Amino acid sequence: MNNRKWADKIRKIEPYVPGEQPQMKDIIKLNTNENPYPPSPRVKKVMKEFSTDKLRLYPSFKFEELKNVLCAAYGINKDELYIGNGSDEVLALCFAAFFNSDKPILMADITYSFYDVWSEFFNVKYEKIPLNDKFEINRVDYYKENGGVIIANPNAPTSIYMGLDDIEDIVKHNESSIVIVDEAYIDFGGESAVGLIKKYDNLVVVQTFSKSRSLAGIRIGYAMADKALIDVLEAVKNSFNSYTVSVFSQTAAAECAADIEYFDECRKKIMKTREWTIGELDKLGFKTLPSMTNFIFTKNNNIEAKKLFEYLRSKKIIVRYFDKKRINEYLRITIGTDEEMEKLIEAIKEYS
Ligand code: PMP
Repeated sequence: MNNRKWADKIRKIEPYVPGEQPQMKDIIKLNTNENPYPPSPRVKKVMKEFSTDKLRLYPSFKFEELKNVLCAAYGINKDELYIGNGSDEVLALCFAAFFNSDKPILMADITYSFYDVWSEFFNVKYEKIPLNDKFEINRVDYYKENGGVIIANPNAPTSIYMGLDDIEDIVKHNESSIVIVDEAYIDFGGESAVGLIKKYDNLVVVQTFSKSRSLAGIRIGYAMADKALIDVLEAVKNSFNSYTVSVFSQTAAAECAADIEYFDECRKKIMKTREWTIGELDKLGFKTLPSMTNFIFTKNNNIEAKKLFEYLRSKKIIVRYFDKKRINEYLRITIGTDEEMEKLIEAIKEYS
């Protein structure tokens, strides 16, 4: 029994490792770049009033309400928008849909670590291009022939933003492949490339409700691109699972996206807290990379990052440490509320 004669017939996979979601009480959770503020009060209202009778039916894949709000916000047409089950799934489907060549796709050596996992999973060849010493992308590195390009802007876990001119330059130099720009963190100070999709039919911009809109739990992500690319994404999705977004999530997301005032208020608060935190860390001898995200990437030459990570954990403050080449001296810290960040700074002071 159990001698696993089938072992050579099944997939061997090395998966992405998400940041932990500890169930301990009273922790300060600064490890997965969630928003510390609740979603728009309109989400609460719509959930309270939600008619469960709607759950009898399959969800609409036209996303009427949600598409109306997002298209108005970004100045795009409904057929230029694809909505899916969190941006991880949208990005994975983009890999399946757009990276279909013998040539390697290009990505930074330090970037969102799901990209190489999807490449392996979908059998896409890839080449990692080193960021420079300041952890910046050098656009000229992306001029060579390739099977596609994936860029997180701002990048994760470095928090560094690349200007729109540089993004446009890369898109322009890659007319014969698809360039995906993952803008999970764009609302914390950067300018979106979505305005370029009408000019370049090889550009795909992906965003999420998980960070700036406080809805990581609801799982909504979306891609914006030329209609021809959106049609292919729809076809790939419909070759796999047609109903990827629940009725509930669609309704809540539409209400959330309509509340622009609250959205602006929250992201401004986070950016302000970010600058305060960077200033305080600066006083304690930390060097923090310039951040345009809701997290910071910071190091202190006199403190071992792993030890500080463990110390903070013992104080119930959970941040992220990556035991990887080039970045193992850094901690990635999500921006929480002012109170949470004050406690973080106090704990670091006690340690150092
Ligand atoms: N892209 C980047 C760069 C991220 O950091 C994340 C969050 N882990 C995602 C995409 C995925 O976010 P979600 O699936 O919650 O939309």
